[in-house]
Parts: sequence; structure tokens; C-alpha cells
Amino acid sequence: MSHTYLIIAEQRDGKIRQVTLEALQAVRTASRDGDRISAVLLGSELDSLASHLSSYPLSDIHLIDHDSLKHYNPEAYLAALTPLLDSLRPDAIFTGHTALGRDLAPAIAAKLQAGQLSDVISIEGTGEGTVFTRPIYAGKAFEKKQFQSFPWVVTVRPNNFPAIGPSPSGQHERIIKVDYTPPSSLHTLVKDVVRKTTGKVDLTEAKIIVSGGRGVKSEDGFKPLEELANLLGGAVGASRGACDSGYCNYALQIGQTGKVVTPEIYIACGISGAIQHLAGMSQSRIIIAINKDPEAPIFKVADYGIVGDLFEVVPLLTQEFRKA
Ligand code: FAD
Repeated sequence: MSHTYLIIAEQRDGKIRQVTLEALQAVRTASRDGDRISAVLLGSELDSLASHLSSYPLSDIHLIDHDSLKHYNPEAYLAALTPLLDSLRPDAIFTGHTALGRDLAPAIAAKLQAGQLSDVISIEGTGEGTVFTRPIYAGKAFEKKQFQSFPWVVTVRPNNFPAIGPSPSGQHERIIKVDYTPPSSLHTLVKDVVRKTTGKVDLTEAKIIVSGGRGVKSEDGFKPLEELANLLGGAVGASRGACDSGYCNYALQIGQTGKVVTPEIYIACGISGAIQHLAGMSQSRIIIAINKDPEAPIFKVADYGIVGDLFEVVPLLTQEFRKA
């Protein structure tokens, strides 16, 4: 029996977010030949994004384009999705484990009386036999789970599935415009979103993160880290210690009560390695720790450790990478 998969595509600043293409890869892993893979994109002025999305291997793309959907609003997004969910009756819905996905996925699961699995990092098997792996206990253990029945709602952790590439057979005819009129019963309206992050690269999708802890000692202490991150095309992150000390914005916080990141390279500078920090970064592919205390717990999870003063080591690294 064939199944219908629906991906909730996410966009930001006029671009399809990378995690959407990773979710598409996750769906292709779980699906079988003959399954239908659709996507839905919500927002405002979506035409160019839709034609970009149509270059990926999707059966069809549903566009819900309305001024009132410009910024994410859980109530409005759920109201806009409901008629599509009723008509398409997807067997499985996938989206990124982002701020939007974490909020919207449980609401959809409740609406459809569906099972939900969050923060999936790998998939084995296909169809009814699909087994999902997700971290538990702040990344200290992993569980493998299987749904007992359809429909499923799944969120995938960014940077864990390879982003799918465009397919040469992409066709614009597959774009289906869905009418949406905001119901008068909506309680809230998002007028504007004021973002505090200043980095060019989104922290949760960054391939390289240079992160600072209380060891950076001041706001200015982050400057050498920013220089290195910019040179490497990465993003700057922080421990809660650095945020609590007022050296940087909480939007940069990584850890149990901050963002969960899985970059290719995580460079921890002046971070002790508290369990709550590790919860947000221990799944990074390569961890490099710079700390002047050789006993710092961060060295237990680091692939490479440099015992030294970050204010000497980080500029030296920048200097060497600049030569490369
Ligand atoms: P510290 O522990 O003070 O470590 C600073 C490190 O810098 C030290 O190892 C020191 O040797 C090193 N250092 C100092 N100067 C230099 C230098 N010049 N060069 C090199 N190294 C230097 N923390 C998080 O990060 N994220 C979370 O999400 C989070 N959530 C939490 C939730 C709860 C419920 C609780 C209770 C705590 C949470 N914490 C979180 C806090 C966590 O327990 C630690 O307090 C915090 O991670 C410590 O930050 P830090 O490593 O920057 O600071």
C-alpha cells in the first residue's frame, strides 16, 4: 500500500531553510517507490520560494500565501493547514525540529490524533517498519522507536540528515495554491518579529560554531571568536555562563535550556563543559576545546583539546586559517 508524506517547509529571510531539505531526505529514507511526497509552504509572497522548492523531488507543493502568515503564528498556521490536512489526509508529516517545528508539530498531532516523535536523528527501514532514533536524557542515551499506526508526526533535528539536492525533473505545474482566509475566531495576530541574533549564519544550521563561555570574560572577549567564526563561515554560540554574565545575548545560548546544535565542528572556548551545556552540543561531529584548565570536563567529550589561554590560542588559529 502506498503512503502520502507531507513536509512542512520552513522559510526564513526569503530562503527555504536547509532543515526542510534535510526533512525531505528523511522522508525519502522512510518512503518507498510509489509513495507520494508533498510539501506545504506557508507565508506571504511565496512565488519565488515555491518555484525554487519545485526543483526538488516532490510530487506536489501546496502554497498557502497570505499577508497574515508572514510571521509564524501557531493558531493561524494550524487554521491554514487544517483544510489541507483534511483533503490530503497524509499518513506522515515531517518538519524540522526548529522553534516552529517544536511548536507546530504537537498541535498537528493533537488535531489529527496522531503519534508524534520529536528530534529524530536517524531512520532505518521503510513504511510501517520505519525505526526512528532520537536522543533522550539530554543526549546521554538514544532510543529507537516505531509507530504502531498512521498517521505520524515527526520532527528531524537540523544537521543530521544530508540535505537533498535539486532534481533536474522539477516542474512548476506541481505548485497548487491553497485559498486561505484568516478565521475571525483567531485570538492573536503577530505584527512583527524582532530578532536579537546578529550573526549571518543561523546557529542551529551552522556547520561550524565557535562558542564562548565565562572564560571570555567580557563582551569584547567575544570579538576574537567572532573573527574566527566569520573567517570559517560559521556562527558564534555561547554557554549560559557567558549569557548570565551579560557578555552576550541569550539567543546564542547552547545547551539544555538553550539551542541544540549539531555542527560539523564545535570550537568551545573558555567553557568548562557542564552537563547542561553538553546537552546542547555533544552530538557535534568534531569538538575542539580550548581551556586553560587541563582538568576541565569539556576535555572528556572533546576530540581535540588545547590547554591554553583562549586569548592567545584563538587569534593564532585565525592567523593560521587565514593562511590556508
Ligand atoms: P564556567 O563553568 O565558569 O567555566 C569557565 C571556563 O573557562 C573554566 O573551565 C575556565 O577554566 C575557563 N577559562 C577561564 N579563562 C580562560 C581563558 N583565558 N582561556 C581559556 N579558558 C579559560 N549552561 C549552558 O551552557 N547551557 C544551558 O542550556 C544550561 N542550562 C542550564 C539549566 C539548568 C537547570 C541549570 C541548573 C544550569 C544550566 N546551565 C546551562 C549552566 C551550567 O550548569 C553551567 O553553569 C554553565 O554551562 C557554565 O558556563 P561556562 O562553562 O561558560 O562557565
